Amino acid sequence: MDISVIIPLFNEEESLPELANWIDEVMKKNNFLYEIIFVNDGSTDSSWEIIQQLAQQNPACKGISFTRNYGKSGALQTGFQEAKGKVVITMDADLQDSPDEIPGLYDMIINQKYDLVSGWKKDRKDPIMKTVPTKLFNWVTSWFSGIKLHDFNCGLKAYRLAVVKNIVVYGEMHRYIPVMAKWAGFGKIGEKVVKHQARKYGKTKFGLERFLYGFLDLLSIMFVSKFRKRPMHFFGSMGILSFMMGFMITLYMIYDKYMNVFVRHIKGREINEQPLFYLALVAVIMGTQLFLAGFLGEMITTSSHQQGEYVIGEKVNI
Ligand code: UDP
Ligand code: MG
Repeated sequence: MDISVIIPLFNEEESLPELANWIDEVMKKNNFLYEIIFVNDGSTDSSWEIIQQLAQQNPACKGISFTRNYGKSGALQTGFQEAKGKVVITMDADLQDSPDEIPGLYDMIINQKYDLVSGWKKDRKDPIMKTVPTKLFNWVTSWFSGIKLHDFNCGLKAYRLAVVKNIVVYGEMHRYIPVMAKWAGFGKIGEKVVKHQARKYGKTKFGLERFLYGFLDLLSIMFVSKFRKRPMHFFGSMGILSFMMGFMITLYMIYDKYMNVFVRHIKGREINEQPLFYLALVAVIMGTQLFLAGFLGEMITTSSHQQGEYVIGEKVNI
């Protein structure tokens, strides 16, 4: 099989037949062996009935239906598990992404050897309320992750099969698939300018809260991928730093007290009347706590070394 197209959808009944036809035309014109995997994310309209009809007419159309709405990430992950094509393409169901881009994306993965190619909606057909925060989001993500992409959250993306089999997309993490791919060692990430249409039917499923959650997700991805294997490196170094600071202040206070009593012969302030005393106290306690957190984290990671920790990109004769 050449291509698996994965389409997550939530209440998109009007668009589905048109989309399926269009993809089928493109595939036939280019002689691709393909499958379309529709993942119905708990739609409450007749989307699932339509997918069942499409599957009857065309065996390349397949469907998976959730019992309730789990979100786009869950839908993508389920599709990824099912995909069999050498190239996996994800696409939104709302006809904003054009199936005409498929051959170009396929070529970039197969011939130009990209691991992941992300669409770039250079000329976006969305309201300004959405395009401006999106610019900011892309800039921050690019800066944090070191991946030079203009449009991380584009629904239209192409992957080498090994990429989608080795990442786990959950929560709202679909925005950061390129970041996850990079951390899994799939470093050749490119982008392709794609056409973008205004939404033809239905309305957008995401509001403004996406930006706050999105940023928090980015922090967890960066943190988890950097320190999951070695929590002690993070917590331990912070802990030692804090503890040493507290310890030095304590030494200074003891020295000061000693000088007051035995050398300067003055009364001076009591130890616990000095602001420094509280600083030292907090620093020592926090230091120990951080160290302990690192130690516990370390024990958890060692006891949960499972298979699948190592990402295999290709195999031969196996
Ligand atoms: N989607 C989904 N589950 C959800 C929300 C959205 O599967 O909970 C699908 C939706 O049907 C569409 C794609 O994800 O195919 C992108 O959603 P949308 O077009 O609303 O996002 P936007 O283009 O506004 O960013
Ligand atoms: Mg859309």
